[in-house]
Amino acid sequence: MRMRIKDGRALEKSDKHLLDFARSYLSEAFPNPDREGCPPESALRSLAFNPKQSEPTVTEHLAACSPCFRRYAELLAELKTQQQAERSSWTRISAWSKAHPVLAATALACALFIAIGLALVLRGIRQPNMPPMDTNGRPSPTEPQNPTVAYSPFSLDLSALSRVRGAEPSETASQRLAVPGSTLDLTLTLPLASQEGSYDLRLTSGDHTLWSISSQAHLHKGKTLIQVKTDFRKVPTGDYNLEVQSSTGIRLIQPVSIGPVLPESGEQER
Ligand SMILES: [Zn+2]
Repeated sequence: MRMRIKDGRALEKSDKHLLDFARSYLSEAFPNPDREGCPPESALRSLAFNPKQSEPTVTEHLAACSPCFRRYAELLAELKTQQQAERSSWTRISAWSKAHPVLAATALACALFIAIGLALVLRGIRQPNMPPMDTNGRPSPTEPQNPTVAYSPFSLDLSALSRVRGAEPSETASQRLAVPGSTLDLTLTLPLASQEGSYDLRLTSGDHTLWSISSQAHLHKGKTLIQVKTDFRKVPTGDYNLEVQSSTGIRLIQPVSIGPVLPESGEQER
C-alpha cells in the first residue's frame, strides 16, 4: 500500500484504488453512531444507481460519515453484481446460439409450434358447437349421419298416387321412378291435402323390407312434404316399392327402381 491521499493521479488512475482507499479510510475515519444529519437510504441508493440524478449534498455527506459511506459501498457492490449477472447470462445465451445456430433455430421453431398448438387447442375448447364424442371418438349416435357423407338432393313426386287404406292393393299401377342407390337428401311430395304428421317410409320387395325410416310431413307452400336423409348404397339394384304410411293408416305405394350410383352432378329432379 503505497497510496497517498494527495496523489491525485493515483486516485484518478483507477476506481479500484479509490474504493480500496475509501474502504480503508472513509469507512472508519468518521464514526457517526447517532447517524446525525444522514440522508435517507433512498438518497444513497439513488447516488449508487443513478449518480446523475442525485443531490450533490449526499456526496459531500459521504465524505464525512463512515456509516453512510459503508452503506454506499455496499450498494455499489450490489449494483456491480447485478450488472455482471445480467451481462453473463446474456453473453451465455448469445454465445450458445452462436455456437449452435441450428439448435437455436430449432428451439425457436419449437417455441413457435408450441404457441401455435396452444392457440389451436384453446380455439377448439372455445368452439361452442363441437359434436359430442362417444368413448370411441366417433361422433355420437345422436348425430344423424356421418358428416363426411354428401347427400345429393333428390325429389320424388308422389302427388299423383292414389291413397290406399289398410292392406288394399293399389289399383292403378304408377309409373316406376328411378332412384339412385346412394346417399340422398330425399324430398317426397305427398298428394294434395295429405295430412302433416308422422309417416313411416319403407322400401319393400315382396314381403321383405330392405330399408325403413320414420319421418314427419310438413306443409310447405301448399304441398305436404317429407324430407329425409337416405342411404340406399347397401340396397341391391332392382325394382322395389316405396311405401309411405301415415300414422292414421293412409298408405301410398310408389314403384321405384334403385339404380347404380349417379355420377357427380348427374341429372336429378328438383
Ligand atoms: Zn451519514
